[in-house]
Amino acid sequence: MVIATFVLSLAANIALSSGTMDWRIIPACLIGWYLADAASGIVHMYMDYRHCPPGRGLDKLFFYSGSRISEEYLELRRSVLKHVGTFDRLVFDFKNHHPRPDALGRRGIVDLIWSSIAFVALPLSILLNVAALMWEIPLWFTAAALMLLIGGALAQYFHSSLHRADVPLTIKAMRAVGLLMTPSAHAFHHATLRRDFATNSGWSNRLLNPIFSFLHRQGILVDAGLEPT
Ligand SMILES: [Zn+2]
Ligand SMILES: [Zn+2]
Repeated sequence: MVIATFVLSLAANIALSSGTMDWRIIPACLIGWYLADAASGIVHMYMDYRHCPPGRGLDKLFFYSGSRISEEYLELRRSVLKHVGTFDRLVFDFKNHHPRPDALGRRGIVDLIWSSIAFVALPLSILLNVAALMWEIPLWFTAAALMLLIGGALAQYFHSSLHRADVPLTIKAMRAVGLLMTPSAHAFHHATLRRDFATNSGWSNRLLNPIFSFLHRQGILVDAGLEPT
């Protein structure tokens, strides 16, 4: 229902825009796609380094050494996550992804995108609907906003596709023309956890890498945040 409402809201934004298709649509789309990539990087950087709530047993899940399909692990997971809120669970998922990247690749698309849509992309799209009802919004602006919203909504799906071999033809084609980054480019992030946080196109990593270095040097982002305690 959340995804269907999002699609309807996006369509309404196009219908409510004023003006016609012209050359400005293309640079606007590219700017929107860049901003979506930057958003994926900023969120990823924050979630990787934000501390998980301590003493809730998330460390037991993170460092569990046995089989992750065993009844013992699944029971532990159920009992630990019962006491962890939705946001902290997402923070944990980002950290848990580093030692077990393939697990992200196995997750389904709805599971991957619903939270980005429900908490961020859909509210922003509805705000744009309201703005378009009140003021004249030019089509080029809507195009940029839609690229940002769609790129943001699908960010975790794009990230997950970097960790699986069988990806749809659309993903392969978008990688071929540079609209999405490649698994080998994303491997730089996993090798150090200190660079290349953006996971859509990777266009913004050149901007975000020095920002990360600065925040890390200042002690605002600390390595202790990378693993739950
Ligand atoms: Zn990461
Ligand atoms: Zn990854």
